[in-house]
Amino acid sequence: MKKVYLETFGCQMNVSDSERVAAKLAADGFEITPNEAAADVVLINTCSVREKAEHKLYTRVGQIRNSEREKSGNKQIVGVLGCVAQLEGETLFEGRNEIDFVLGTKAVGRVSQAIEQVFAGQKNYFDLGDREDNYDWSVGEAQRHSPYIAFVPIIEGCNKFCTYCIVPFSRGREKSLPASEIIRQVLNLRRQGVKEIHLIGQNVNSYRPKTDSGLENFHGATAFSRLLRAVAATGIERIKFNTSFPRDFHPDIVDALDENENLCNWVHLPVQSGSNNILRAMRRGHTIESYLEKIDKIKSASRKLSLTTDIIVGFPNETDEDFFDTLKMADYCKFDSAFIFKYSPRPGTPAYSMIDNILARNKTERFLELEKLIKSNQRSIFQSYLDKTVKVLVEKISSKNKAELSGHTTCQKVVNFKGSNKLLGKIIEIKITQAKTNTLYGEICDHYVS
Ligand code: SF4
Repeated sequence: MKKVYLETFGCQMNVSDSERVAAKLAADGFEITPNEAAADVVLINTCSVREKAEHKLYTRVGQIRNSEREKSGNKQIVGVLGCVAQLEGETLFEGRNEIDFVLGTKAVGRVSQAIEQVFAGQKNYFDLGDREDNYDWSVGEAQRHSPYIAFVPIIEGCNKFCTYCIVPFSRGREKSLPASEIIRQVLNLRRQGVKEIHLIGQNVNSYRPKTDSGLENFHGATAFSRLLRAVAATGIERIKFNTSFPRDFHPDIVDALDENENLCNWVHLPVQSGSNNILRAMRRGHTIESYLEKIDKIKSASRKLSLTTDIIVGFPNETDEDFFDTLKMADYCKFDSAFIFKYSPRPGTPAYSMIDNILARNKTERFLELEKLIKSNQRSIFQSYLDKTVKVLVEKISSKNKAELSGHTTCQKVVNFKGSNKLLGKIIEIKITQAKTNTLYGEICDHYVS
């Protein structure tokens, strides 16, 4: 039996693709090994969002080709999957010819075929084709990143073409999965004992299936809010969704959350900038006024919804006034947390032709100032949980302290606490006793919930 070592960079979508690659390989008689040195095949599922992530690929291939195993003449097959594979294609074979095959983002279902072709002696095998019609989206427990949590892709690709972003080029146009297939998967996962699902996609709320099959019995202003209600009706304990696109964030999504307790208390809504000038240059398709209207709706929900975002500082031509607008917006929104990025031009994107005219020093200053403000709001929000009781899905032993267990709340906060391994996979009540900037700590209440 040939052994395969699989390494994944990037977002939830890549983690989810890798899970299905592992499931396909296992079904075709390969063994997935956690031991890189023992593997006959090393697969790298790549991310292209930042140039740094792309460089990681070349570093990793170099490490593999210089390993003790390779030096002893025992060569491994190296396959590159995912976004860098899709964008670079055949050019990845140029230079020192260290890569054996390349599979694009939608060709990953044919991974076994690619490996067999290379074993049969084919050189420079590549496949950047579309998904097969009968592509299997389900993943068995053995290949999931967690026995208790599952990613369920509902839409892939992106039609938005924000000027700084490579995703529409690496992942192609938006394509929604049929609702009936999504519901079938969620029911299966529930039967397998999964407690929490994450509906995932580059823009989940742009969900637009070709037919309404599976959604007919559910009201809702958009296909996505009807899907949320349909998934909630499966009775699975927790449903999270990520990422939402502001322009397509209809108020009815908040109504669906209000109606269904198993739709979790968390919305991730990337704003990117607080300035309309910059939002226009980024071609985001929303203004700051329309974004804040959505935030007001989220804040008016009957349950407190946690709110997270992504922000880029130092986009070309961002003035001090534009940045001040971002600070003002962030203070108004009081995000539970935010991913802040310093702009860097990405080859292949429309913004690459703009002059990157904000000095590195200024980008860093803006980053730190915004981070300070967001962390300060975040601290107050985390402190507000002190002495409160929250429900936590116990996911794993804490990586920082082996004596502690770790899990997430419905509002996506990490909570660590002391307890028995027997609690893994259960949803339990924890009283919060300490709040650090990114993590809550607590004690088990004397009963658990499910
Ligand atoms: S919405 Fe914009 S930032 Fe998000 S994936 Fe699409 S192009 Fe990229």
